[in-house]
Amino acid sequence: MTEEIVVVPGDGIGKEVVPAAVSVLEAVGDFEFVEAEAGDAVKEETGEALPEETYELAASADATLFGAAGETAADVILPLRTAVDSFVNVRPAKAYPGVDALRPETDLVFLRENTEGVYSGHEDRLSEDLSTLTRVVTTSASERLAEFACDYVEDREYDGFSVAHKANVMRETDGRFRDAVVSVAEDRGVETDEVLMDAFATRVCLDPTQFDVVVCPNLAGDVLSDLAAGLVGGLGLLPSANIGPERALFEPVHGTAPDIAGEGVANPSATIVSAAMLLEYLGYDEEGEQVRDAVEGVLADGPRTPDLGGDASTEDVTNAVLERLD
Ligand code: ATP
Ligand code: MG
Repeated sequence: MTEEIVVVPGDGIGKEVVPAAVSVLEAVGDFEFVEAEAGDAVKEETGEALPEETYELAASADATLFGAAGETAADVILPLRTAVDSFVNVRPAKAYPGVDALRPETDLVFLRENTEGVYSGHEDRLSEDLSTLTRVVTTSASERLAEFACDYVEDREYDGFSVAHKANVMRETDGRFRDAVVSVAEDRGVETDEVLMDAFATRVCLDPTQFDVVVCPNLAGDVLSDLAAGLVGGLGLLPSANIGPERALFEPVHGTAPDIAGEGVANPSATIVSAAMLLEYLGYDEEGEQVRDAVEGVLADGPRTPDLGGDASTEDVTNAVLERLD
């Protein structure tokens, strides 16, 4: 049986990098691709940024590959993450040999809580002068994340994981998060160390090798993983996976890059590595590794897109990856 992969290029460079990643998936496996629309362009046509059909496809497929959405990003990606019931956002931040990076020794993975914290939408305007935000933290979501983190470090033979939080100030919410995560890890016999998220920001810049797998609340994971992106040399390299209990959605960390959209020079690496994560999620570990190796080889030897100092096009880079897969 051929597996079905839903493909949502979206807007901007999503329309360039997602087809590049699809051609890589076609080269290593026998998949059926179902293309669906989302984002600014479809909103202009139909009034809806995320058509019901796209939501339903993502909510029933094993895996979805998403590019980016422009102005409508929040109206697209938040419901798509809900469609796959994604409780964790996996964000590896790894420097590649040959790519100019602030910290070339960086090799980290963030496991970011993906359903609550300050991103759960409870904001209120109480008066002309006062707005408030309710922060939601549940033991159940924290435990679910912790179970995933334990599986993740066991499967990949890490010694344990770090928990980044600010429980010294947000004692109730981050305290609950920390207690739940640490207690699951203790039950599972997985080692943890704790780091205050502000201290983490400094320490990771000074010496990223202090950390391997970092479990964080939603907002902290968002900010700290972007900080790590700065250490490894740019947005065009970072993949991510939104994992749910039964399905998952893969996307590059970057957005639509309106400044270069339509020019055919976007770096497809982040999306191709997101496709490698998709392959591994579906159980195609060998193919996933082949794709990673091919991307790593091209990043080391070229050709390179302008964001990495080269003058190659998206197509040149994609073809170089495909050649290495032959
Ligand atoms: P959005 O609102 O869609 O996130 P943005 O203006 O924030 O748009 P990003 O996509 O987040 O743009 O990109 C930020 C910067 O990084 C831009 O200058 C963009 O050109 C660059 N960039 C991002 N992704 C890539 C890529 N894949 N290849 C080359 N450059 C990229
Ligand atoms: Mg952006």
